[in-house]
Amino acid sequence: MTLLRRDFLLSGAAALAATALSARPGLAQPAPSGAGSSEVILSGGYVVSMDPSIGDLARGDVHVRDGAIVAVAAAIEAPGVARRDMSGCVVMPGFVDTHWHMWNSLARGLPQSRLGPFGKTMAPLARAWTPEASALGVRLAAAEAIHAGITTVHNWAHNVKGPDFAEAEREALVASGLRGRFAYGYPQALGEEEVMDLSDLERMRDRHFAGGSAGLVSLGICARGPDRSASPVWRREWEAARSLGLPITAHVASDRAAAAMGNIAVMHRDALLGPDVQLVHATHATKDDLRRVAESGSPISISPWTELEVGYGLPVIADMADAGVEMGLSVDNMVLAGHADMFGVMRITADLASGMREDQGALSDRRVLEWATLGGARGLGIAQTTGSLTPGKRADVIAVRRDAINTAPVGTVDFMLTHAAQPTNVDFVLVDGVVHKENGRHTRVDQEALIAQAQETIARLRQEAGI
Ligand SMILES: [Zn+2]
Repeated sequence: MTLLRRDFLLSGAAALAATALSARPGLAQPAPSGAGSSEVILSGGYVVSMDPSIGDLARGDVHVRDGAIVAVAAAIEAPGVARRDMSGCVVMPGFVDTHWHMWNSLARGLPQSRLGPFGKTMAPLARAWTPEASALGVRLAAAEAIHAGITTVHNWAHNVKGPDFAEAEREALVASGLRGRFAYGYPQALGEEEVMDLSDLERMRDRHFAGGSAGLVSLGICARGPDRSASPVWRREWEAARSLGLPITAHVASDRAAAAMGNIAVMHRDALLGPDVQLVHATHATKDDLRRVAESGSPISISPWTELEVGYGLPVIADMADAGVEMGLSVDNMVLAGHADMFGVMRITADLASGMREDQGALSDRRVLEWATLGGARGLGIAQTTGSLTPGKRADVIAVRRDAINTAPVGTVDFMLTHAAQPTNVDFVLVDGVVHKENGRHTRVDQEALIAQAQETIARLRQEAGI
């Protein structure tokens, strides 16, 4: 049950209806307009709209009604509408994560074990994994997303060992109330010559996504792609996804050996890139590769923390920016990264670009901020819905404290957001107009129970996996 502050609500019967709206479980549809809907003005914050036609407002109001942004301006007069004081905060669009293996969040802090590095540690865990554990992983990741101000996730489900796994993850993601894409995947142990379960993918599309989305979640596929599966296999998977009208994502050119396979050029040659094909990592893509990627419209998702931790290397971030690639940022997974801190992801992105180029101006903080919001939304094909505070878009809005011990004084807001702020500074989170975090606290998640369940489940899985 969600508890809303009274000042968020209209009075009387409308207040009750708005509370009900905020607590609805699946967020299937925006609330009906008219009496009983929730409406609020987030008032007096420093507004970073990420909409070029609005820009930043040193003091601005954001008017939200029925889960949508209806106006963003320096001062909004709307008699009778509740106002929420945001004067100590930066008000901005929620972060868009573009690649996240949410299922394995329970294995946070196990990047390696006595069995060996990441792959050798995760393989027996993935074999022991259950649908319930996958759902719990999604719930844990979703709760951390809200904590960190991430309102959209791209759930890269790459341990779907059967329809029950796919259903468990889909259901948990929809129930989380986050906006996102469920990328239907394959079992970790699937052989390179084996095709993923395309018939169950089609079943899921027809059953849950016939209208394009289920609640706030849409469907896609995550494939092993040319670097990690045989040529006839990934080509068959591409063909199936495209005939089903589903977007595709794959890890490509992650390490030097993968990049040396030259698959970006092959995909470009065979028209197998495009805005519907997201490339993950591309850590060692050459300048020619990046030119091809930009030309095709394929977005790239980078996750610098995990690329460093697992030893892929230093991602060629400034080259990607220079090539004009559509860029998005990602957490990837908590096993390797340890956290889902999008502020931290922005920080390492900006500073790797400067350090590797030996140029402080290699990549502006504002550009990185754009990748974490609007760029990510464009890459996922949902920029018409989220990614900026633009009237008409859905209300995925966060407020970040600018008066905290670690954020004040604010030199520039761009630097504060990319270099000073942390998830604990996220004071308020709206997803599709629904309050998920208020005064720095979750409103819809019983954290204590969730953590206890996660600890108990991973202990059992570790025992079974022998780590
Ligand atoms: Zn990944």
